[in-house]
Amino acid sequence: MAKQVNYIFVTGGVTSSLGKGIVASSLAKLLQARGYSVTIQKFDPYLNIDPGTLNPYEHGECYVTEDGAETDLDLGHYERFLNRPTSQANNVTTGRIYQHVIDKERRGDYLGKTVQIIPHITDEIKRRMLLLGEDGRYEIIITEIGGTVGDIEALPYIEAVRQLRWELGSRCVSLHLTLVPFLRATGELKTKPTQHSVKMLQEAGVQPDILVCRAEHSLGEDVRRKLALFCNVALDSVFESLDARTIYEVPMLLRDQAMDQVVLRKLGLSSERQPELAKWESFVHKLLHPEREVRIGLIGKYVELKDSYKSINEALIHAGAEHSAKVDIQWIHSEELTPENAASHLVGLHGVLVAPGFGARGFEGKIEAVRIAREHGIPFFGICFGMQAAVIEYARNVLGHQSANSTEVDPNTPHPVIALMEEQKDVTEKGGTMRLGSCDCLLSPDSKLHKLYGTILVSERHRHRYEFNNAYREQLADAGLQPVGINPQNDLVEIVIIPSHPWFIGVQFHPEYRSTVEEPHPLFTSFVEAALKQSQS
Ligand code: GLN
Repeated sequence: MAKQVNYIFVTGGVTSSLGKGIVASSLAKLLQARGYSVTIQKFDPYLNIDPGTLNPYEHGECYVTEDGAETDLDLGHYERFLNRPTSQANNVTTGRIYQHVIDKERRGDYLGKTVQIIPHITDEIKRRMLLLGEDGRYEIIITEIGGTVGDIEALPYIEAVRQLRWELGSRCVSLHLTLVPFLRATGELKTKPTQHSVKMLQEAGVQPDILVCRAEHSLGEDVRRKLALFCNVALDSVFESLDARTIYEVPMLLRDQAMDQVVLRKLGLSSERQPELAKWESFVHKLLHPEREVRIGLIGKYVELKDSYKSINEALIHAGAEHSAKVDIQWIHSEELTPENAASHLVGLHGVLVAPGFGARGFEGKIEAVRIAREHGIPFFGICFGMQAAVIEYARNVLGHQSANSTEVDPNTPHPVIALMEEQKDVTEKGGTMRLGSCDCLLSPDSKLHKLYGTILVSERHRHRYEFNNAYREQLADAGLQPVGINPQNDLVEIVIIPSHPWFIGVQFHPEYRSTVEEPHPLFTSFVEAALKQSQS
């Protein structure tokens, strides 16, 4: 018999950015560590079909799943915590919901009825909320509702949660995350914003079962009692989420308050099996007690907004912990790098990572960063646009094609070493039309990459339109920039290296999306290892 599916709904109140994604991921981790099969999905109340068309300034990184969905960066946390892939079904936006309903209306599927937010939009939200539970893979599905309770656009979602709670009864738990601010002037934690936020949720018909309070100071018995009394929440179900030293500590902080036990009890599930977190705890221990440090420059154009490079940042953290090393990331704005000043910014770093990106702004700075890393033997890691910058730099400064470029940046370059793929040439729509998701990559036998991965055929995730131009493959290889990873289906170059350099790897894909706490990505661990070597020399 298929297992019963249980649902946990996570809402947020008072302000955004309280870390719903981290709380959801941490609770999921605890439940998974007790042997439950868990997944997390996120519902985002904006009208974009997906965040793929959103500027990183708007929404941070766009995270890409194996099946090629462009999703919210919280899905990255879900994968990094649970070590399980997510998919398109794990991220739904209001845009997607409306598009589906409107398409149905155009087909005549509603048989002449008036199509309305209630019930048609809410029904579609409910259908999507239950979708992942249909194939028997999961016993517990955590649904994070983006935004804040009280937002106009969140209303249909809260209504869907209300209806599902009514329909599913004890198989549902509602968790509400709020802020309990500390007023320094009076030295007090204030509960009123939380009371108001819960009241708003109650007005929408949803009584939270669990309160999680973000606070700078421990709540203490009195504050917890007050919150329990005024919010109709059992005292043992009021939890605190204090600022942690690292997000990876949060599962343990929640476990120490027995949150997973309370949740399981409310769902009528057994909590006999203790959470198995040894590997996780050893990672956190190494992370918090590093024995060494490396300085790695991250060259990008959104560096003032670190969320734009979330997965790279986390992959470096995972890799650092693997070596008991703290990775001190120096965020370097690519627009600031010039041929004159690049060396002064970069020489002395133990590694240079040139980040993914789009468009001409700051691209010349990325190319300069490659040049310095290549000329000075600094470990270099180029990801996507960073790899393309490496190819261009080599074509310019080693092959002597001074005007080599990507046709994305200079459509008329006489040396288009990076060019639009044939199948991209007629694409005019921006949304969801890049090369997206997992592709195979065949590594050259006995290459450094083969050794690093420990296997010959790998699968990595993509998100780009432009490609290494095979017309220049031989020239570049003869000059020392070797292709060592090829897509076996379409013969595209996915990885280039300079064998004579201590560590110089450019990858057309995004390895950062696959790095998790339990399985740091081999390219990142190797890069950090090379940086450690560099720091000692
Ligand atoms: N702009 C480049 C392309 O579209 C690289 C994209 C990226 O770095 N994700 O090919």
